[in-house]
Order: sequence, then structure tokens, then C-alpha cells
Amino acid sequence: GKQGTRAAMEADSTTVPFEELYERLEKKPLGEGTYGEVFKARNTRTQEIVALKRIKLDQEEEGMPSTAIREISLLKELSHPNVVKLLDVYCANASSKKLYLVFEMVDMDLKRYVKTKGSLDAATCKSFALQLLEGVECCHTKRILHRDLKPQNLLISTKSNPPALKIADFGLARAFLTPVPKYTHEVVTVWYRSPEILLGSTLYSVPVDIWSCGAIIAEMATLSPLFPGDSEIDTIFRIFRKLGTPTEQEWKGVHALPDMKQSFPKWQHRGWEKIPRMHEIFGPLGISVIADMLKYDPKERISARRALQHPYFVGQ
Ligand code: ADP
Ligand code: MG
Repeated sequence: GKQGTRAAMEADSTTVPFEELYERLEKKPLGEGTYGEVFKARNTRTQEIVALKRIKLDQEEEGMPSTAIREISLLKELSHPNVVKLLDVYCANASSKKLYLVFEMVDMDLKRYVKTKGSLDAATCKSFALQLLEGVECCHTKRILHRDLKPQNLLISTKSNPPALKIADFGLARAFLTPVPKYTHEVVTVWYRSPEILLGSTLYSVPVDIWSCGAIIAEMATLSPLFPGDSEIDTIFRIFRKLGTPTEQEWKGVHALPDMKQSFPKWQHRGWEKIPRMHEIFGPLGISVIADMLKYDPKERISARRALQHPYFVGQ
């Protein structure tokens, strides 16, 4: 029917049809990403300003898979100060190619925040790193992976001091089964992707998000991405050039991965001291925890929980 059905019925939101409940405020989207466009909108009942994400499925697809809708609806239960709150989920009907996700509205993303500030000081970098890891830790505890952590998915609310960091899109990748949906026109960045995914591993888990955290946190100091490859193989080689080509000794089983080749050049670790601004922003303790997040072997990579206990965060 025209009124549609909510994925998970809620007593307080069933009276007004979705199309009338959320009024789009600007024609121009706030952003366009992997999963579709994001619009600024207002809840006409509560006057709350929200971010309305419209996900479009590929023409060939059957409609929205019910598993995806169920999966996403579960994310409404997720509530943490460092995770963008999913407020509502709406799909017109089973054959619909459009899914609407309603999120809390956050001022800007980290990319734009850094652009407006020019750079981030040591205290802000530590605060953002801490908040990022707290959000990640909460989701990992619930066995929810992000799989696409990147600065555009970290939103900054400047209403508080220090500014609040909130992670967007947690759990969406799994709902859609592929991290890169077919319907995207945007070039998907692989700069924050972990080496095990880049080398073709299909059995991966929470450490993939920790790798992304390490690369994002380091970039808060360097102000330019660590591994800005224009393809997966280019990204792998950029990682190897900075961190050294992994050996069996530091990553047992690396040569069994589908896309790892014995013939790859054998680079040496360049050393964090040579990377601009890392030392002045993070000091030896900060560099140590970032290096633990960028360990090649996923089993040896630090967990979010242990990272939060690291002396860099615990000390004074
Ligand atoms: P991607 O798939 O690349 O992560 P998104 O579709 O999630 O892209 O979002 C694109 C852009 O829209 C983000 O980089 C951000 O600037 C903006 N955006 C997304 N969610 C929100 C939100 N909850 N509040 C404000 N802006 C948002
Ligand atoms: Mg996003």
C-alpha cells in the first residue's frame, strides 16, 4: 500500500506516514557516498533535525533483501555517544528499490573539520582517537563490524567542548553483505582497508576495523593519508613501503593469502620518526599504540579494549 510498512513497528511512529513524517529541508544532499545520498530533513512531529539517507538498490536487484532490513533494524538498538544514532528505518514495500535510514544529524565530517581548522593539536588528536576507539569497542563487544571506517564516516559535533566524534554507518556493510554495493557511482576508497582484506582473505574479523583506526588516527597528525593507493595493489605496495614487506615471521600464513606473492619487492620498515608530525603530535606512547593498531598479523593487532588501556590514553 501507499502508506508502506516500517521494518520494525514502533508504537509512536505508526500514525504518520513516513513521507509526511520527514520533511526534506534542502534540495542539495549533504553528501553522497557508498550507499546513497544523505539529506537534511526535519521530523515534523518532534521538529528534530535529522540526516535522511536514501539507499538505492541496483536496477537488476530484486528489491530490498529482508535480511538486510532485519539486520539494519537491529542497529536501532545500538546506542553509544560515539556512534551516530540510527533513529528509524523505512522501506516502502518488499519490491521497493529504496530504503530510508534516519540518523541523528551531526554538524560535519572529520575531513571537513580538519579542513576548516587547518590542523589538529595533540590534545584534539588524543581526544578523537579515544572517542573513535570507545565507539569501536562498543560495537565490537556486540560483534558488529564496520568494515569501512574512514574520515568521511567520522562525524564531528562541535556543540560540545571538546568536540564529539561519532562513527557513521556501523554495521551497514554486513547488512548489504558486500562492503561495496553495486549501485555506487562514487569511487570507493581502499586507503583504510586492512592488509588481510587487500591480500584477498575472506576470513576476517574485528581487527580490520582496528587497522582502519590506526591509519585514521595517524592521519590526524600527518594531515595526509598514509596509504593513498589508487587501487588495491597500489595500496598494498604503499603499506609495504612504509611498514616493510611482511615476513612469515611477523605474520604467519601471509604467503598463503590469495593475492600475496613471493615475487613482491622486499621493503624495510621506514620508521615512524621519519613520518612528518607523528612524533610531535603523538609522542613515543602514541606512536606505540598506533603501531600496535597497524600490526600486520590480525591476531597480534591490538583490540579496541586493550588500546584504551594503553598508557598513551591512561597516563595523565
Ligand atoms: P559513505 O558511504 O561514503 O560513508 P555516506 O552516504 O555515509 O557516505 O555519507 C556521505 C556524507 O554525508 C558524509 O561524508 C557526511 O558528510 C554526510 N553525512 C552522513 N551522515 C550524516 C549525518 N548523520 N549527519 C550529517 N552529515 C552526514
Ligand atoms: Mg558514511
